[in-house]
Amino acid sequence: MDLNNVQVSFEQLGLSSPLLENIASLGYEHPTQIQAESIPRILEGKDILGGAHTGTGKTAAFMLPILELLKRSGEAQPLPRVLILTPTRELAIQVEQSACELKAGLPFRAAAVYGGVKMRVQTAVFEAGVDIIIATPGRLLDHLRQGNINLGNVQILVFDEADRMLDMGFIHDMNKIVAELPEQRQTLLFSATASGKVKRMIHEMLSCPAEHIEVTPPNSAAKKIRQNVIMIPRACKADLLAHIIKQENYSQVLVFTRSKKAADELTATLTTAGISAAAIHKDKEQSERIQVLNDFRSGAIKVLAATDIAARGLDIDNMPCVVNYELPERPEVYIHRIGRTGRAGRQGQAFSLVSPDEAKLLEKIEKLLKWNIKRVVIRDYTPPKSSSGVSRKCAKTLKSTRRL
Ligand code: AMP
Repeated sequence: MDLNNVQVSFEQLGLSSPLLENIASLGYEHPTQIQAESIPRILEGKDILGGAHTGTGKTAAFMLPILELLKRSGEAQPLPRVLILTPTRELAIQVEQSACELKAGLPFRAAAVYGGVKMRVQTAVFEAGVDIIIATPGRLLDHLRQGNINLGNVQILVFDEADRMLDMGFIHDMNKIVAELPEQRQTLLFSATASGKVKRMIHEMLSCPAEHIEVTPPNSAAKKIRQNVIMIPRACKADLLAHIIKQENYSQVLVFTRSKKAADELTATLTTAGISAAAIHKDKEQSERIQVLNDFRSGAIKVLAATDIAARGLDIDNMPCVVNYELPERPEVYIHRIGRTGRAGRQGQAFSLVSPDEAKLLEKIEKLLKWNIKRVVIRDYTPPKSSSGVSRKCAKTLKSTRRL
C-alpha cells in the first residue's frame, strides 16, 4: 500500500503496547507521513495544525498519540478527557470505529454523539463514564444546554475536518462548546483546505506557535486519480451513467449530487435499469443511513448516490469510481469528492457528467486545479428506446443537441 508511508517504526514514534499490537493487527506496517510527523509532536503536548485530506491516515495520526497519552496519565482521572468534534454523523461514527480498533486492550471508553438518536441514550453513556467523546457540534451543544455533560475536564480537543465544520455554519456552536472547555488544554486541528475562515479559527483556537504539518499541497487532488469530463445534456445523465456502470462493470460507484431530489431520482432510474442503488442524504433517518452505508460497504448495493453533506464522512476503501453527477457550487468540494477514489495509493476513476448549464462551475474547478480535465466521449452510447419519461426526454434532447 502506498500511503506515502515513511520508513520509521511506530515504536520509534513513541507508541507502546498494546497500541503496537493493534496497529500490527490492522496491517499498518509503517506510519504514513501525517502520522510520522504528528504523533511525536502530539506526545510532546504540542498544539497541531494538520493540513491533511481524509485518506492520508489522519484519524490514526491523532487517535494513536491520544490513546498513548491517556495510558501514560493513568485511569483515575475525571471524565471526559478527550473531545473530538466532527462535521457529520458519518465521520463521528467512522472515528469512533477507528478509536475502538486502535484502543483494543486498553480500559478507555469512546462514544460517538450525534443527532437523530435519543438524547437520553447518550446521557446514559455520559453517566456511565466515557473517556473520549466524538461529537457533532449541534447535538453536543444540546446536551450542554440541558446540563447532561460537563466538559470542564477535557484535556485534549480535536477539530476533525475543521474546514468542513466552518462551511456547514458550525462556528457559533463550536465557539460555545470551546467556552465550556478548560483554557489549559491541547488542541489539534485538521483541515484539508486553509481558507480565510480556517485561518481565523486557527488564530483563535490554537496556542501560538502551533506546530504546522502539511502533507498534501493545498487544493491539490490526489495523483492516483484519472479524471474525465463527459459533456452531456442534463436529461441524459441518468441513462448515460447506467450505461457506463454496466459497460465498465464497476463493483462500486459513489455518485455525488447537489440536491437530495437528484440523489433520489437517480437512485430510482438506476434501480429501474437493474442496477442496485441507494441514496444517502440528510432527510434519511439515521438508522436508514447506517443501513445504506453498511449495504454499500458489504457490496449489497453497487451505487451510492450522496449529497456532499452526507458523503463527507464516508471512509470507503478501494472505491474504484467516483462520479460527479452534478458539479458542486464550490470548486474545493470537487477535490473532496474525487478524493474518495484513488485512496490508500490505489488507482481511481473520477467522471464528471457536465451539462451546458454547468460550464461556469467546470471553469472554476479547472482554475483551481490549474489544468483542464480531459474530455471524453462515450461513443457506443445511444439513449434506449424506452417508454420512460426520462429516456424519451433524453432522446429528444440528444437529437436537438446533435442538430445544433
Ligand atoms: P484516514 O485518512 O484516517 O481516513 O485513513 C485512511 C485509510 O488508511 C483508513 O482505511 C485507515 O485504516 C488506513 N491507514 C491509516 N494508517 C495507515 C497506515 N499507517 N498504513 C496503512 N493503512 C493505514
